[in-house]
Amino acid sequence: MAEKRENVVMFPFMAQGHIIPFLALALHIEKTGKYKITFVNTPLNIKKLRSSLPPNSSIQFLEIPFNSSDHGLPPNTENCDVVPYHFVVRLLEASASLRTVFKQLIEDIIQEEDGHRPLCIIGDIFFGWMAGVAQELGVFHAVFSGAGGFGLACYYSIWLNLPHKEIKLADNHFLLPDFQEASKIHLTQLPLTMSEADGTDSWSVFHGKYLPEWSKSGGILFNTVEEFDHIGLMYFMRKLGRPVWPVGPILLSIENRARAGKEAAGITPEFCKAWLDTKPQNSVLYVSFGSMNTISPSQMMQLAKALEVSGKNFIWVVRPPLGFDINSEFKANEWLPEGFEERIRESKKGLVVHKWAPQLEILSHKSTSAFLSHCGWNSVLESLSYGVPLLGWAMAAEQFFNVKLLVEEVGVCVEVARGKACEVNHEDVAAKIELVMSDCEKGKEIRRKASQVREMIKNAMKDEKGFKGSSVKAMDNFFNAARTMRGQAQKQQNG
Ligand code: UDP
Repeated sequence: MAEKRENVVMFPFMAQGHIIPFLALALHIEKTGKYKITFVNTPLNIKKLRSSLPPNSSIQFLEIPFNSSDHGLPPNTENCDVVPYHFVVRLLEASASLRTVFKQLIEDIIQEEDGHRPLCIIGDIFFGWMAGVAQELGVFHAVFSGAGGFGLACYYSIWLNLPHKEIKLADNHFLLPDFQEASKIHLTQLPLTMSEADGTDSWSVFHGKYLPEWSKSGGILFNTVEEFDHIGLMYFMRKLGRPVWPVGPILLSIENRARAGKEAAGITPEFCKAWLDTKPQNSVLYVSFGSMNTISPSQMMQLAKALEVSGKNFIWVVRPPLGFDINSEFKANEWLPEGFEERIRESKKGLVVHKWAPQLEILSHKSTSAFLSHCGWNSVLESLSYGVPLLGWAMAAEQFFNVKLLVEEVGVCVEVARGKACEVNHEDVAAKIELVMSDCEKGKEIRRKASQVREMIKNAMKDEKGFKGSSVKAMDNFFNAARTMRGQAQKQQNG
């Protein structure tokens, strides 16, 4: 008789940047053929997700009842991609109110499975409350972070200490407490929510309440690679006294992205590939600030000038600049220097893509040489998986810390600018593009390191007879821990 597959329950926060890595992890676990996966989310998110599964997938979606209007959110608001930024924290607070309903869902699952508990619950970094639910039900719990180790460690440490209000060094730097390697952060390396935090605002209150709850969890799964992200991983092992499992990079494949329908906007992968095919190897700069962020109108003007002045080939994904509706039609006359689009079209130097480009196809193409990015962690992992070095321009969240790691520790990135409000000079940006893409010593060194990291990543994911890479081992270790700890979790509950 076939062995009964154990249940793995997963529940990400309702934002694309969280749902997508969770889905990628779910598909990755499904490939082992050993587990039954229950993917929990709110009705509208589940509706969208159903179309992104391969036809033969056995992942089961479970809707958790949610009415956004009950939480002071606009009607039918179940995802960060449809709310202005100031509502995000309200969506976080609303998600915490799902505690009781979530507990009931798990109790129902246990009842349906004749008292058999799920093997584990994998929860979001924003769902600290879930560790307590799991404990009450005697189920093993782990946090899954789509963010990298170092980025998340800085984020965690700052929210729990707000050190920038207390410990200021010369030149507006402060030290991160609890870091073994003294980590200096500059005030300009803080996202707005943090630099404005004073301990009483909604973000501080939310994180102050739920981040400490991680100590009730069994450990943290990270979408990262141990070999280049050990500082942050060590931080959590010390701080929480719990294991961490760096299992990345786990990325949604090109096929599954296409299924999710995102590529519909902007440009087709075929057109993009044909354009890249006409360019020499390692000659194209790819520019994108991810799925949520955009720059100011004046920054956009300077960036456009920088791209022209640099003389490099480029693909630039342009989203409406700050101050314009995200769904606004493309307004080249207002957003870009006069005649910019015509000039680059004639010279065949550049491709301006509206809103969304097939990023994996671009990064994996041999003509692509560097990526000017906001350094969201998915973009970082995707770039490095193909050995493409970065030009970092962080916008929000832990992206500033990602840039710090990539510049100072990994050596695969040059920082271009910080945030959506800083002044940007096109000559300065063009000089940095030149630095990374040209044959100067520094450029060669960065590209050499990026190639080394690509090999590191390949090795980490290798699963061959007689050899398992670090990320493959970490995944095995996670499931072994879940099995071992299950008994303990049940005892704790019974005791
Ligand atoms: N992405 C894409 N095309 C775009 C912009 C983004 O395919 O034009 C994808 C990108 O490949 C990545 C994700 O969207 O997988 C962005 O995630 P990331 O963590 O880099 O940034 P976020 O959007 O969460 O800020």
